[in-house]
Amino acid sequence: MTKISENKVWRIIARIDDEIIVKQASSVEKSTRSLRNAVCQRLCDSAGIEYELGWWKGRRHKSRRDFVDNFIGTPLYVQIDDEVDIDLHEVPYEVYSIEQVRLTFRKMTLMTPDNIDAWGYLHWGPGDDEKMQLLGEKLPIPQHMSHSRGFEEEEVIAISDAQQCIDECPKCKSEFPFGTIILVTENFRLIPAICCDSMIWLKEEDSEENEDWT
Ligand SMILES: [Zn+2]
Repeated sequence: MTKISENKVWRIIARIDDEIIVKQASSVEKSTRSLRNAVCQRLCDSAGIEYELGWWKGRRHKSRRDFVDNFIGTPLYVQIDDEVDIDLHEVPYEVYSIEQVRLTFRKMTLMTPDNIDAWGYLHWGPGDDEKMQLLGEKLPIPQHMSHSRGFEEEEVIAISDAQQCIDECPKCKSEFPFGTIILVTENFRLIPAICCDSMIWLKEEDSEENEDWT
């Protein structure tokens, strides 16, 4: 019996830009992990961003795993010398954009005051098409701010002018430069503060007395 299982492996296949990646291992977990890593590496290469070790770890990065899994077919337990049959694995034809890859893997490292403009666009390059609107996007809430102390995300539901809402920067106490914005979510406010080059998070209750917020 052992002899038979020694000849069998878990095989799993992905397809990116018509390139086929095949991984096989003694367990479905091992083959899946190694294929996910290969897919992520391939995606990072095509988007010109650095591959990050441990990119998949933790609940915070579920969206990364989900994104990578879109490229991956069904794992099958096969004889080691069986021919690779892509149809049998139901390998999807996933279409993606460089923008999606950059945002999936780099959104929070890109989120600095320098990269966010007065209209709420997050820029990842100098080109006019190398940006995305943050209104309607979900932001991961920093752990020290969240009520559950777990992972939370909230959608940006409004963008306000910081100069009109707050008298001075809560951090450096200077006046906000023209064009500073506030990203408003249901329970939080995020200010990409150009004055002191910091991303300032506030809880909504901190600002309840101010009616200009929403
Ligand atoms: Zn400041």
